[in-house]
Amino acid sequence: MAKILLVEDDEQLADTVRTALLFDHHTVELAHDGDTASHLLKSSDFDLLILDWGLPGSLTGLEVCKNYRTGGGKSPVIMLTGKTEVSDRATGLDSGADDYVPKPFHIKELSARVRALLRRPPSYMGTILETGTLKLDPHKHRVTKDGQAISLLPKEFALLEFMMRHPNQVFTPEALLSHVWPSDTEATVAALRTTMKRLRTKIDPDGSILRTEHGVGYVLENS
Ligand code: CA
Repeated sequence: MAKILLVEDDEQLADTVRTALLFDHHTVELAHDGDTASHLLKSSDFDLLILDWGLPGSLTGLEVCKNYRTGGGKSPVIMLTGKTEVSDRATGLDSGADDYVPKPFHIKELSARVRALLRRPPSYMGTILETGTLKLDPHKHRVTKDGQAISLLPKEFALLEFMMRHPNQVFTPEALLSHVWPSDTEATVAALRTTMKRLRTKIDPDGSILRTEHGVGYVLENS
């Protein structure tokens, strides 16, 4: 499960792609123009960006990508290209895009590219995460503790996955909100605390895995 920014002005195509990504258990945020996308990139963190090259407004997808890289953004970028831009592939690669998908494409092709890029940092997808006897399989969307399946709500799962990918690091509630929740939700620190509390009740009733660092935030202990 990853948090993905999708920027596409063709609403029908955007809807198709979004549905496919949601089906693969990703969190998806949608923007229809480059300016909105830039704004979202400043206010939230994403694991992957899918940018249409030709966008209405003052910024093309290519420029959004360039600005993102210039600003230090490191997440993989997939550029969707129309007929006119296909010949301009080299320019696109210079902008810092990791991959290209020419339109029209089959949605399964795009899903495969997304999976491939999310796999690029070796620990990202497809590996089972482990903390003690707690195991999380991002691919099968499954959590077990001592071999027993545990049923988690989507946000609980996303929060746990994020914490398991970043063990022994303290995160403030604000940082967790930014990494795990879509930026257009009304999510508050209180919502995060509630989710964390429910998650602990389910996976960690004795508080040995998910610790509160008082006055700072939360840390997942993995020694
Ligand atoms: Ca377009």
